[in-house]
Amino acid sequence: MHYDLLAIGAGSGGLSAAERAAEYGKKTAVIEANNNLGGTCVNVGCVPKKVMWFGAHLADAIKDLPAYGFDVSLKSFSWGKLVESRESYIKGINDWYINYLKDSNIDLIQGYARFIDAKTLQVGEQTYTADHIVVSPGGYPIVPDLPGAEYGITSDGFFELTEQPKRAVVVGAGYIAVELAGVLNSLGSEVSMLLRRDHFLGAFDCLLRDTLMEEMSNAGVNLMTQVSVQSVEKQDNGQLKIHCNNGIVLEDVDSLIWAIGRAPNTQNLNLASAGVHHDEQGFIPTDEFQVTNVDQVYAIGDVTNRAPLTPVAIAAGRRLSDRLFNHQPERKLDYENIPTVMFSHPPIGTIGLTEEQARAEHGDAVKIYQTSFTAMYHAIADHPQRTAMKLVCVGADEKVVGCHIIGMGADEMLQGFAVAIKMGATKKDFDNTVAIHPTSSEELVTMR
Ligand SMILES: Cc1cc2nc3c(=O)[nH]c(=O)nc-3n(C[C@H](O)[C@H](O)[C@H](O)COP(=O)(O)OP(=O)(O)OC[C@H]3O[C@@H](n4cnc5c(N)ncnc54)[C@H](O)[C@@H]3O)c2cc1C
Repeated sequence: MHYDLLAIGAGSGGLSAAERAAEYGKKTAVIEANNNLGGTCVNVGCVPKKVMWFGAHLADAIKDLPAYGFDVSLKSFSWGKLVESRESYIKGINDWYINYLKDSNIDLIQGYARFIDAKTLQVGEQTYTADHIVVSPGGYPIVPDLPGAEYGITSDGFFELTEQPKRAVVVGAGYIAVELAGVLNSLGSEVSMLLRRDHFLGAFDCLLRDTLMEEMSNAGVNLMTQVSVQSVEKQDNGQLKIHCNNGIVLEDVDSLIWAIGRAPNTQNLNLASAGVHHDEQGFIPTDEFQVTNVDQVYAIGDVTNRAPLTPVAIAAGRRLSDRLFNHQPERKLDYENIPTVMFSHPPIGTIGLTEEQARAEHGDAVKIYQTSFTAMYHAIADHPQRTAMKLVCVGADEKVVGCHIIGMGADEMLQGFAVAIKMGATKKDFDNTVAIHPTSSEELVTMR
């Protein structure tokens, strides 16, 4: 069978490239190894994570009820029920995709794809050829190479938990580690986070990082800095014992979660037979048009190691098909100023340069506007959670090159500000916008 476009992986990237190609009337297929469509985001990423975050958010809100006049007593929390609701929602998305592909005239080829050459893929006993092949196989969570590491789970395993861990240890300093630790803590697990350095979220603005560390610590997460795991053993009672540097030992842990990074799914793709290059870790470099070193073989999404986020994979896939099949030769994704949200407690919204990056690039031309306050919701609830915001501006016209928000609502606040920043807004544009009162976001247009 010959196609105009074949995508490896029915995740965010592959599906979006295929959808657009099919819209333009092209003969298109996606190849998916997993029984469930939708990739990481739908099955073991953004979607189940956000459902857990909503649950955790409600658990936090319950603590605030008395100050708002509610006298309620909580009978119980069922982790199993939350997981059941979550999985039923995800099953709906998986099923929706099957019909959507049919309705969109996209063939679904189930199985594992391997290259035979740059125009041919093998899936089981079948071979398929295509003019254009999109490599979008995503990645998987890394487990470290140390004794007893197999007793731990990853984010994939976290979503398989049918019971709430009583005592959890999360190892890692990236956003997935922070999010999972926050969810577990709010839902009532005893949580320790093991950080190799002094802080987590090294790539984020220091205001966000420091505020979140303080808030998580205040909320009861045991943040252990300068700690790395050396070995793990199973105790007689089935719990885990974790041996760390400096003689630190954590006992009776019932869930050890590795959140130390992700690697690309490229080991078994047989990229060499297509002549497609990858780096030492297996990520596939591309040019700005998502083209690999081989013409008409493209890579999009997490496999490229550039901004591993669902909307990035989707945008890259759509733009690629616009360019290939809709006479838009310059269409490509601009990787500058990609807004990101972290579903931590409290959430973070961030875009553009951190203060550190701006100072390194622009020196004295940088001007910082910053504020920190207790939002009205928390002031009433007598729950002094901090909200903090920073605008990073550059030059005489004070172009806003970075916007960093932590606090309740930051997750929903950022998208609109991202539009303004992408359009090149200056501090004056922010100032000229009338505030919406009473909100937290009004602080972003009233900072002096
Ligand atoms: C815990 C967690 C939380 C996350 N939260 C967010 C979030 O809140 N917001 C956000 O934007 N992003 C989030 N992400 C990241 C997001 O999920 C990814 O960036 C996104 O899914 C990448 O899409 P992709 O198309 O590159 O790969 P994927 O979605 O991983 O899809 C790849 C697909 O390819 C299939 N596949 C692999 N190899 C083959 C093969 N050889 N043949 C056939 N099929 C194959 C896989 O089974 C998979 O279905 C999260 C990720 C994780 C792990």
